[in-house]
Amino acid sequence: MIIMAEHAGFCFGVKRAVDAISESLKDNPEVWTIGLPIHNPQEVSRLESLGLRVAQNDSEIPEGAKVLIRAHGEPLDVIDRLIKRGIDVEDMTCPFVKKAQEKASSLSQEGYYVVLLGDKNHPEIKGIMGHVDNPENAEVIADEKEASGVQFHAKTALISQTTQREERLEKAAAILVGKSSELRVCNTICKATAQRQEAVRNLVRQNNLDGVVLIGGKSSANTSKLRDILQAEGVDVLWVEDENETLENQHWFNGKIIVGIAAGASTPEWLIHKIKNIIAAKQDLQGVLIH
Ligand code: SF4
Repeated sequence: MIIMAEHAGFCFGVKRAVDAISESLKDNPEVWTIGLPIHNPQEVSRLESLGLRVAQNDSEIPEGAKVLIRAHGEPLDVIDRLIKRGIDVEDMTCPFVKKAQEKASSLSQEGYYVVLLGDKNHPEIKGIMGHVDNPENAEVIADEKEASGVQFHAKTALISQTTQREERLEKAAAILVGKSSELRVCNTICKATAQRQEAVRNLVRQNNLDGVVLIGGKSSANTSKLRDILQAEGVDVLWVEDENETLENQHWFNGKIIVGIAAGASTPEWLIHKIKNIIAAKQDLQGVLIH
């Protein structure tokens, strides 16, 4: 039997951006993104076969090209440079990321010292930082430990990367409250990540599973977090990126009667279906009931 996690696969923002790329490729032979539009090699390959081109930075984008800003967003100066070069820019920054960018921009203009909670190397955080009015008056902290190192400022605004955990934001806020006369805390955390994490916990806790197949790119941070949760729940996990990896690990399914399926926010639906069918066929061969 196969049991799917309640929330699995593309989140709203990624689906919106990937759909926009697919639509745009119907009218343009090439569409560019800066960096990978999604942390899923199979979906990137599919889009590349249709004409997607991935640049490492804006200077690689040729004149007259069509550029789609991915869900993570970009710093303002990057978008300004593209527009000044006359490049056709379609901004598909996820609206939840946009909200964090707008908060960073408006609060820094109001004179707040901006503290961004997140991963300083993540493109989303670089994009939000790129909307701060004065980057000298801002910093990125990874966690509450780093919050302890923030200097005192009369006005401080704490803004979160959309994929952070709420407990971490609460802990950072509790520390920063003693480091400012006025603290503004913006809960810019998106529910999609928490929903997927809760869904895998429920999948394990509400079903007597023999194992969980987790589908997602190996470089996907949100899929990696799902793997950590599943392991903490003590369930046997098989993390696969594609159908080949599923077939290579056929031995993992031996003796497993009830198998759960979970997928990261960057895993496309077509890939989930493909792998689900492989698992169902494998279980059919074992003479097990297919759900
Ligand atoms: S995880 Fe949330 S913020 Fe990030 S792209 Fe998806 S919907 Fe948008």
